[in-house]
Amino acid sequence: MNMKLASLALILAACASPAPGAAVSPVVARPDPVVHVHAAGEAAFFANAYLVETEHGVVAVDAPFTVSEAKRFRAELDALKKPLLAVLVTHAHPDHVNGITALVEGRPEKAPIYALPGVQRTLREIDGPKRAYWTPIYKDEYPSRTTFPDTEVKDGQTITVDGVGFTAHDVGAGESADETVWTMEKDAFVGDLVMNHVHPWLAEGRSGAWIASLAAARPVLAKATKVYPGHGAVGDASALEWQKSYLEAYRAAVAEVAKGKASLDEAQKKALETRMKAFLPGAPLEALIAMGADPVAAELSHP
Ligand SMILES: [Zn+2]
Repeated sequence: MNMKLASLALILAACASPAPGAAVSPVVARPDPVVHVHAAGEAAFFANAYLVETEHGVVAVDAPFTVSEAKRFRAELDALKKPLLAVLVTHAHPDHVNGITALVEGRPEKAPIYALPGVQRTLREIDGPKRAYWTPIYKDEYPSRTTFPDTEVKDGQTITVDGVGFTAHDVGAGESADETVWTMEKDAFVGDLVMNHVHPWLAEGRSGAWIASLAAARPVLAKATKVYPGHGAVGDASALEWQKSYLEAYRAAVAEVAKGKASLDEAQKKALETRMKAFLPGAPLEALIAMGADPVAAELSHP
């Protein structure tokens, strides 16, 4: 070995070895988050809530409607034996918010509950009327109090929890007054922007805005490998296209049977039901078809 090679060998050896006494910390990749799906039963409108298990904790996305379904969701959290680090709310409907009370009650840690300003505002507005409507029907199964989000998140803001980034995207009105898509790395929690192959809630008469919010979500979900919907099976970004096709079919059916009128009579509602059941045979939440009829007819008669 000549002198030049010998000194090169020494330099390489020096680079490869830590200085005497230096601490060596190996780089260990953190494990991918694991998403646990809680799919509620019929009494809780088949709504989904999610527990995202990170290395050291859990992030909840929404929480179920009824007291007993919320207790089951809480038991699933307890079974993970990790602290609840955050709760993310997708939108302001009770079938996605009611169970937060049971989820956080009595836990030693206090997890922040995140929502967009528009979601927080809507929730404050509708909480009383929804409670007044549903409590006589659900009695003890309707939670006696609502736990409201306490931490505002802005459109485009990322919160990092246990090393995992969650970004809120405000995609506007749709199934509710304000829809959030929460992205987590390549996955997305889309709330009721997608009610995947179930009959959707159109009673707020915003089918046109809903189609626009699906378009707003498209670039956000362009690289999404998994899309976690508010109801129905976990899918991919094609679920947005399916949801749009349902809404377009529903609007076309209402337009045809209502003939420009702002409301439908019982026979027309039956005709609408027949059309939409044919579009989506055997799907859950058939009762919602007729509930959306007049609001969407009114929407179409005053575009
Ligand atoms: Zn829902």
